[in-house]
Amino acid sequence: MKKTVEAVSPAVKAALGWCHGARFLTTAAQLNQLPVTELPEIAFVGRSNAGKSTAINSLAQRKRLAFASRTPGRTQHINLFELGPKLAANALWADLPGYGYAAVERAAKLRWQAVMSDYLQLRRNLDGVVLLIDSRQGFTDLDQRLLALLQPRLVNGQVRLLAVLTKADKLNASQRQLALSAAQEVLAEISTDEADIGLMLFSALSNQGLGDMAEALHRWVMQPRTAVAASPSGVLAHETALDDGAAAAAALQAPEAKEDC
Ligand code: GDP
Repeated sequence: MKKTVEAVSPAVKAALGWCHGARFLTTAAQLNQLPVTELPEIAFVGRSNAGKSTAINSLAQRKRLAFASRTPGRTQHINLFELGPKLAANALWADLPGYGYAAVERAAKLRWQAVMSDYLQLRRNLDGVVLLIDSRQGFTDLDQRLLALLQPRLVNGQVRLLAVLTKADKLNASQRQLALSAAQEVLAEISTDEADIGLMLFSALSNQGLGDMAEALHRWVMQPRTAVAASPSGVLAHETALDDGAAAAAALQAPEAKEDC
């Protein structure tokens, strides 16, 4: 498919340039292995196979910056990428493992879901979440559970959300409209005056939405949340003391029958 060649605004150009500078920083198996930092962090989340790695690689214009979620040994780690000038990084991206992949041993799945749930609820410098949803599937049960976990931080604007409907090239124009309105209905339920929630279509094949996604993320970083700017520095105690992970994991655990992609 032909890549979209759009007239690119200076803001989009700057945003894309920023994204292209993404570089691998570190990988963490647990929340307390993540660096404690004041840099705003943007998390990429989504079901396995939603197109998360592809979207990250498209943003960064790199073939394998993010690994496909089924790469053995990588599935259960949070991979962090650094953005901004080499000696003065201004943001981090966190690639969280995809959820809902059936062929993962149950105990490992539960353990990991606990870490991920804790990350979304407790990671202090979390600024925004990019939720990747296959546009042909829409919000699944697991995606809704993830939204419910995030909701307390979304409704007061502490964390922003961009829902990205991926693989838009697989839909025709009317299906795309339907996908957008169905997603809008779900998001309307958690919208408040303070919430910053966006929704868009994206195709890595045509690059539809690539500039918009880059611009949205860049804007988050250039316009930090006042809550973070005003908060005291240092890590919250509960970021290293995770004892309620099991409950959080249960919230993300789908009934067995629904776990297949
Ligand atoms: P992840 O598990 O969420 O990281 O998903 P991947 O990025 O590995 O993508 C899953 C599958 O969907 C791969 O076969 C990709 O090539 C495919 N895919 C991802 N994005 C797109 C897209 O925009 N259009 C199409 N047609 N396929 C895509």
